[in-house]
Amino acid sequence: MGSLDLSSDSSSSPQREFKPLDPEEFRKQAHQMVDFIADYYKKIETYPVLSQVQPGYLRTLLPQTAPYLPEPLETILSDVTKNITPGMTHWLSPNFFAFFPATVSTAAFIGEMLCTSFNSVGFNWLASPAATELEMIVMDWLANMLKLPNSFMFSGTGGGVIQNTTSEAILVTLIAARDRALATNGNNQSIRKLVVYCSDQTHSTFTKAAKLAGITPCNIKSIPTNLDAAFSLSPVLLRRVVEADVAAGLIPLYLCATVGTTSTTAVDPLEPLADVAREYGMWMHVDAAYGGSACICPEFRQYFNGIEGVDSLSLSPHKWLLSYLDCCCLWVKSPRLLVKALSTNPEYLRNKASESESVVDFKDWQVGTGRKFKSLRLWLVLRSYGVANLQSHIRSDVRMAKAFEGLVKSDPRFEIVVPRRFGLVCFRLNQFSWAGSGYTELLNRKLLEWVNSSGRVYMTHTIVGGIYILRFAVGATLTEDHHVAAAWKLIKEGADTILKGIHN
Ligand SMILES: *Cc1c(COP(=O)(O)O)cnc(C)c1O
Repeated sequence: MGSLDLSSDSSSSPQREFKPLDPEEFRKQAHQMVDFIADYYKKIETYPVLSQVQPGYLRTLLPQTAPYLPEPLETILSDVTKNITPGMTHWLSPNFFAFFPATVSTAAFIGEMLCTSFNSVGFNWLASPAATELEMIVMDWLANMLKLPNSFMFSGTGGGVIQNTTSEAILVTLIAARDRALATNGNNQSIRKLVVYCSDQTHSTFTKAAKLAGITPCNIKSIPTNLDAAFSLSPVLLRRVVEADVAAGLIPLYLCATVGTTSTTAVDPLEPLADVAREYGMWMHVDAAYGGSACICPEFRQYFNGIEGVDSLSLSPHKWLLSYLDCCCLWVKSPRLLVKALSTNPEYLRNKASESESVVDFKDWQVGTGRKFKSLRLWLVLRSYGVANLQSHIRSDVRMAKAFEGLVKSDPRFEIVVPRRFGLVCFRLNQFSWAGSGYTELLNRKLLEWVNSSGRVYMTHTIVGGIYILRFAVGATLTEDHHVAAAWKLIKEGADTILKGIHN
């Protein structure tokens, strides 16, 4: 082997000059990209909200292999405009009223830039002390805004962590609960006896998490709800099912309650449910992915009544607190149980700080090892807007939803199906006295299809208690009163067309 001469690489390939992160080139291209994005946000209303492309459309438009030689950003961006944008369903369009909104803001975007720029892989405290410590502070700030008890805060006896999605928040708490139960009940056979509970309105992610945690599928019990109780989970019914399970020799493990269900924003009564959970030694989790954010306003905080009696709570600021995907905040009363279930200590991660147990290593609170410095995004949002602006953001969405509800009520052809609580209005075309429910469903399906295929508005549906419902979720960051008014006008036009069709 000759002497080490790095410049003597005999190859004359362009790789020799290849600098993937040249600060000046970065400055130039990043500015170009920011301009491109700002223009996109400015023009967003001119695109069909729901993409109108057919499956497989992109394969016919793009080359079959990656380019061998580099291409300039201008060329790539023009392809984005030509080929990618038409295949987007524009979640940030002010005319997006589907699912739940995915909210964004300048502060979160800038925070994301900063987070990405550091690219720190903060699995433990030492890997980036600021990343861990800021996350602890921000989680306490948000807990404080939500008036959570000290038992969920680092400044008290608990703590919080930023997960990617609700699925992961449920999965890690379920595994902590499972391991505690298995330790108590001795043998590995008892895993087949563990039972988890939810309502028929609980997000499907709960079933997924339960399967991932090794719960026997027939032990995932979904308690029925009904329209009369506005689809909230009945503590009486829950107790009855749990009692029967215990009598059959099963072990109650985990209860997932929801504040703001996905179909209709139903709220489960936390206090009496927590009583049942405590009595049977179950872990109780609250999934407040969407509705929880509203609890930063005093007038909505009642939906968290009884929260001091639960073991964990998750809430996704990407849904209603202007934070971009993905950001799901999880608070737990016993971080110790999470760490016990999830910690690993390979030699290559050993360090004095971790061994002194004076620091938090967030790798032991989540599925993955590596993690981004995500708290920067939330920190930027909280500081740039303040609690005051975040509260008025929630209130303004609720006010617009209320206005839409009023419009629906003013038209006798329509009805509100379940009471509105937050920014979601659940409504439908009325059932005609002479028509069956199947026919009413057909009319509503037609109306939804008519509205969505216009490209001017996008909303979605659900079926609860056998009733087909149209969902109008107000909350896309760019939505203003006139968008809501225009959407209603379009829906009425659709109703005119559909109903005229049946009378001819
Ligand atoms: C949206 C939603 C979820 C799924 O959230 P992810 O964070 O995307 O996993 C879970 N629960 C409720 C109540 C939701 O509204």
